[in-house]
Amino acid sequence: MKVPLLDLKPQYQSLKKEIDEAVQRVIDSQYFIMGPDIAKLEEDICQYLGCKKAVGVSSGTDALLLALMALDIQPGDEIIVPTYSFFATAGVVARLNAVPVFIDCDPVTFNIDPKKIVEKITPKTKVIIPVHLYGQSAEMDEILAIAKKHNIKVVEDGAQAIGVQYKDGKFVGTIGDIGCFSFFPSKNLGCFGDGGIVTTNDEVLGEKLRIMRVHGMEPKYYHKMIGGNFRLDALQAAVLRVKLPHLDSWSAKRRENASIYTKYFIEAGLANEEGRLVFDSKNKVLLPKAIYKDTGHKNHHIYNQYIIRVDKRNPLLDFLRKKEIGCEIYYPVPFHRQECFEYLNCKDEDFPISNGASTDSIALPIYPELTDEQIKFVVDTIAEFMKASK
Ligand SMILES: *Cc1c(COP(=O)(O)O)cnc(C)c1O
Repeated sequence: MKVPLLDLKPQYQSLKKEIDEAVQRVIDSQYFIMGPDIAKLEEDICQYLGCKKAVGVSSGTDALLLALMALDIQPGDEIIVPTYSFFATAGVVARLNAVPVFIDCDPVTFNIDPKKIVEKITPKTKVIIPVHLYGQSAEMDEILAIAKKHNIKVVEDGAQAIGVQYKDGKFVGTIGDIGCFSFFPSKNLGCFGDGGIVTTNDEVLGEKLRIMRVHGMEPKYYHKMIGGNFRLDALQAAVLRVKLPHLDSWSAKRRENASIYTKYFIEAGLANEEGRLVFDSKNKVLLPKAIYKDTGHKNHHIYNQYIIRVDKRNPLLDFLRKKEIGCEIYYPVPFHRQECFEYLNCKDEDFPISNGASTDSIALPIYPELTDEQIKFVVDTIAEFMKASK
């Protein structure tokens, strides 16, 4: 049985008629840049997330870059980021000649560890960028308290987490000063190419983001500030408007798939009742944990990725791929170990949790249309590997 890590075709097939019509409508209008679909998507997103302003942009990376530009980040400013994330979180900081300051992650959620932030704050610290990794909120109360005390802004990287609720019920991306999202096709709300959006509850900042999206131009050909071409395509906005109303049902399916995994892992004797075991146990699987599950908010975790931890990670990866099961490592190299950040002279021993996660974690298929049978096959195959490697 083939189990791809992600298959986007069934989702498209289920909405084909509506999406094709929406795309055709944009083509017929020949209105490709800005226009009504962008404005309507921004309204829809504000309504869905419960925030004041949303500005459609060209990608999740550009969302982060634009956010930092709107906060006037200058060369030499220090920006606190987790060392364990997708490259864009740190790349945008370095592109502005600011200094990324890396923080180790939490061993359960893989999100930035707030306890390790305070010691890295200096008078130059301007922004903290928590990432809501894999579709679960970072610890925002702690992060906001630190930010408030030291007068630091908070830019949320919600690229993997649109629709995720924090423990107080607020949607991520509406909690800090600016929220950043990606509509890259493989994200849980994906368009047909690159796309993203920034969100804020600060009207002044929202207006600045809007103007900087188009070269800082307002009115036309008059520039009070320097922005860029950070526009979202009208075609992408049209696709996203069709998809957004289905996001919660897809997230629910992902959560259901996660609970099916737990059930089968327990049945196979690879995990205990809570779905978790002490990690040093050999030939066992450490399952992801939804830490805000008991808060009463349905979107406490949306499983953009489903990450397990095993002690023989690389051999298991090879085994699964041979059996045509899609899997991936998010992420094999934390930022502090990347060649391009050698100049920062980070101490490797400051990041034991991320270093560990980079060697023992593995992402399994979790997309909404996955069948019970496929999930069982993945677990059976892992059980087969564990048995053989005892
Ligand atoms: C995907 C991703 C981004 C970048 O989004 P793009 O749309 O691909 O530019 C940024 N941060 C995180 C955590 C991501 O997963």
